[in-house]
Amino acid sequence: MKQAPPHIAILPSPGVSHQIPFAELARRLVLHHGVHVTIIICSSTDHPPSDATKAVVESLPTPHTRTVFLPPVSFDDLLPTDSGPGAKVALTMSRSLPSIHHVLKSLASTPALTSTSTNSSPPPLVAVFADPFAPDVLDIAKGLDLSTYVFFPSNAMALSFFLHLPKLDEIAAPYDLLKDLPEPVKLPGWPPLRGGDLFGSIQDRRSNTYKRSVQTSKWFVSDEGIKGFVVNSFMDVESEVIKALQEKKAGETVIYPVGPLVQTGQNHEVSECLTWLDNQPRGSVLYVSFGSGGTLSSDQITELAFGLEMSGQRFLWVVRRPNNESANAEYLNSGPKGPLEASDFLPNGFLKRTKGRGLAVPFWAPQAKVLGHGSTGGFLSHCGWNSTLESIVCGVPLIAWPLYAEQKMNAVVLVESLKVALRPKAGEDGLIRREEIAEVIKALMEDTSEEGRIVRNHMKDLKDSATKALSADGSSTRALFELASTLKSMTAN
Ligand code: UDP
Repeated sequence: MKQAPPHIAILPSPGVSHQIPFAELARRLVLHHGVHVTIIICSSTDHPPSDATKAVVESLPTPHTRTVFLPPVSFDDLLPTDSGPGAKVALTMSRSLPSIHHVLKSLASTPALTSTSTNSSPPPLVAVFADPFAPDVLDIAKGLDLSTYVFFPSNAMALSFFLHLPKLDEIAAPYDLLKDLPEPVKLPGWPPLRGGDLFGSIQDRRSNTYKRSVQTSKWFVSDEGIKGFVVNSFMDVESEVIKALQEKKAGETVIYPVGPLVQTGQNHEVSECLTWLDNQPRGSVLYVSFGSGGTLSSDQITELAFGLEMSGQRFLWVVRRPNNESANAEYLNSGPKGPLEASDFLPNGFLKRTKGRGLAVPFWAPQAKVLGHGSTGGFLSHCGWNSTLESIVCGVPLIAWPLYAEQKMNAVVLVESLKVALRPKAGEDGLIRREEIAEVIKALMEDTSEEGRIVRNHMKDLKDSATKALSADGSSTRALFELASTLKSMTAN
């Protein structure tokens, strides 16, 4: 009798930047290995699934992928000041646990009927891939006798940070803030990093987010039942960290570097950005974007606008309304709240003066396509890991402007170790000034710049390494094959 293909459930946390790499992992497992995937989407009444989320799941290949949208959880009991986007992500996941349990149980016991895309029954569920924001899912899965994996949509360094956090927490015991650590942190395979460059969201050891992260980390370190950690990375971009992790976790738990998994499912509608790029000279445009939810203060937006103008370079800027409290204010939002008039917060006359040479688009651009366009020659980025990988895959050198989460860690690696990015310096008050911005943009974009030539060349090499990792015998292709083989062996038992 023919062996049934394996069926897995994947559970990204809310926010398109986790859903994209989860979906791409699904796409590869389905198309290259015949695995069936159910993607489970959690949301809240405050933040229903965004258009970007819907586009991601709709792009997945049918009929082997199915999507289950869970009932949105309510935040009616929370005060507006109670929680920022990070805490809301964790709360959405924890409040969705009963629904997650219900869906996994039904998939594990009676296949079918949960599908929104097909009526045919999927094969029995064998494994669950959880998001690092939702470790409790692992317990539910184990209770149902399913194998468990954690997929880190970010890189191996982020996983390494989590696996070492309990130890780091002991070292940091005398300090309230990680930024006050007197010595640089040097974890296996890492360059030395200052405490202030570690995960932005868990700098304060007294915060609930920090405490929750330490708890999650202890879980990851001690849970021998986790079959594997899958990371969206590849050998050449993080070889030392990946090797160190593979040694640390030697035994039952396997580390699978399967990246770069970058978004391939963007829709084909004609975008103003792409039409505008069609009319610009090759490699001449600096793309400026701070990820799915990054925001700048009013003062910083003003400085950036003048910096772009003073640089004399062409640019395509995804602009968001300023936020003076939080750098990830728009993380769970699907679009601007109300009409977004860039002229309301950009300096007077900026749009007029830069017309033709620059384009400011509100809130969102088809980033993967922008980076793949021949006119794009540089990317001023917040160094989110998806953005970083998308830039690497397209060979576009970076200006590193980290904001939150693990972005400062990424920036250090991109600038100092891989040398594929330049980084503007902030003043004592944290503001990056227009003169500095203009200088760094010119250094990246001008043909005659030696600094620019170096990062462009390194980025070309890294692009080649990424292509190699995904080639037929590449390291990431082999890691994915190994993962798929293990999943297939589960249906044989
Ligand atoms: N993105 C996009 N258009 C935008 C902004 C972001 O398509 O205008 C996509 C981007 O291509 C990437 C993701 O959103 O895939 C952002 O993920 P990243 O890890 O870079 O940053 P985060 O959103 O987690 O801060």
